Amino acid sequence: MKQSSYYIPTLKDVTSDAQMTSHKLMLRAGLMRPLAAGIFSWLPSGYKVLKKIMDILREEMDKSTGQEFMLPALNPVEIWDKTGRSKAMGDVMFHIKNREGLVLAPTHEEIITYHAKQHISSYKDLPQIWYQIQSKFRNEPRPRSGVMRGRQFFMKDAYSMDTSYENLGKSYDKMAATYKRIFDRCGIKYFVVGASSGAMGGGGSQEFMVENAFGEDTCAVSDSGYAANIEIATSAVKSVGRIENNPQYEIFDTPNARTINDLINKYNVQEERCAKSLVYIIEGEPVLILMRGNDELNLSKMESVFETSNIRPAGDSELLEITGANAGSIGPLNLKSEIKIYADNLLKDANGLVSGANQNGRHYKNIDLSRDAKILKYKDFRTVQVGEPDVIDGSPLRIVNAIELGHIFKLGTKYSEALDFKFLDQNGKTHPVVMGSYGIGVERMMACHIEQHSDDKGIVWGKTLAPFDLHLIGLNIHKSENVRNACDKIYNDLKENGLDVLYDDRKASIGFKFKDADLIGLPYQIVVGDRMLGNGKGGEVELKNRRTGESKSIELGEIVNYFKAISEN
Ligand code: ATP
Ligand code: MG
Repeated sequence: MKQSSYYIPTLKDVTSDAQMTSHKLMLRAGLMRPLAAGIFSWLPSGYKVLKKIMDILREEMDKSTGQEFMLPALNPVEIWDKTGRSKAMGDVMFHIKNREGLVLAPTHEEIITYHAKQHISSYKDLPQIWYQIQSKFRNEPRPRSGVMRGRQFFMKDAYSMDTSYENLGKSYDKMAATYKRIFDRCGIKYFVVGASSGAMGGGGSQEFMVENAFGEDTCAVSDSGYAANIEIATSAVKSVGRIENNPQYEIFDTPNARTINDLINKYNVQEERCAKSLVYIIEGEPVLILMRGNDELNLSKMESVFETSNIRPAGDSELLEITGANAGSIGPLNLKSEIKIYADNLLKDANGLVSGANQNGRHYKNIDLSRDAKILKYKDFRTVQVGEPDVIDGSPLRIVNAIELGHIFKLGTKYSEALDFKFLDQNGKTHPVVMGSYGIGVERMMACHIEQHSDDKGIVWGKTLAPFDLHLIGLNIHKSENVRNACDKIYNDLKENGLDVLYDDRKASIGFKFKDADLIGLPYQIVVGDRMLGNGKGGEVELKNRRTGESKSIELGEIVNYFKAISEN
């Protein structure tokens, strides 16, 4: 492609509020342009990259027995009403105003199930893996970070259908392996976390995450390979345990203790012996949760323990009414009213504890939870902290932000039951089909690749995703017949040998061309200048590796073979 006539509008700088490297570089390298909040137009070189990603997705999905579909983005809302998701999705779903009853699909579980049900009725028709690469529409409340979170974006979504949970496990594992191959081929470093299932319902799920300061998810990871969303992460911190000869509990005055640190600093209480009590209203009922004094309660863990998200902290007057004291003096013994008490695993059967006495300005010491308190259950309620030993080999945990790149999900029978998608087994018995769903964001793949492959000069494309194989740069091409002729010949030879070349044949300064080439970031640059054309047998050019910055001279006659060898590797 001759750059003089190619639409690749590069920019020295971006004036928009782009913050992420990938967002800035996509704008600067002329890959895409914004049209409205969360809506982007792909320019030719950006679209080429997207298509390369889609090709890899297709190849790997096809290898894994995937069958490609193309489902409409315009959907009748009735189908979505049947699963209750038109309501559950709320404002995220776009509704068409002048054609009542049509919505824009944010994902396709319902439509897949609808079509599968039409012709799949026997165990003989299963298993199936269906996929598509298609636009999704989501009215994201805060679209930002460029194409990472768009209102219209491409997703590779896949759905598996099986006769049993055991077989679903096989499809799920196959998709997990497929995803790993896809991300590896695209040169993206990722880690996998088990995630909470959220509002989708069903069994297990895993997310493929990319570590990134701008990521909206928080994960705990370690060098041993431990990785989990902070919502479910655990560590190997030891429980508080028991001390010997712990006497009866007794009350003591703590008029100046509002916080755990006050207790430690002003009343000489050992930090590990402090227990704090938090009162929540869960499904309308007060529950006290007892934790180590300086631990942080994890709302997601609480939601899964109580299997509801209808949870709020008790207000000040409620606290007083329920416990007899204000925050800071609340504890598990002698509460004003009988309420359920749960405790964190780290406090299991602990003794020698200090906690509020449910009288303002007073605490109990020497509490023995198994002797003195009525703990309904011990559960994991705490958020892990940086530096804690992991559960694999004790390596210290790091807490990182991460971007979700892909998601695999055991749906179970939620959609097949709601849409009456059943099959007959060998004995003529009917069962709902057991389903899975698997998604990858195509633009996110591109953005994550750029996040991981760039430097202060621009993008540093990996070979598999680069919009062109190499950049041919003619220096002073408008002034030198020699340079023009040599470039034209190299360009044609490479093209004939199947290489995709971006040829900078523009009338522009040398410095400008170099800067532009580094910004666009193709893996190799061939620099053709007058001086070197006189070197060697038939003349030489300079070959620069964009990633390492290394340059070497190469004879004109060797260029084609050199690149053929590279492209075959
Ligand atoms: P997020 O938590 O980031 O909103 P999600 O849980 O809504 O993601 P899924 O519904 O599981 O995402 O979609 C599958 C994949 O589609 C995601 O892993 C992500 O790569 C991509 N994706 C989701 N929402 C967007 C978006 N608004 N823009 C671009 N890609 C997206
Ligand atoms: Mg989302």
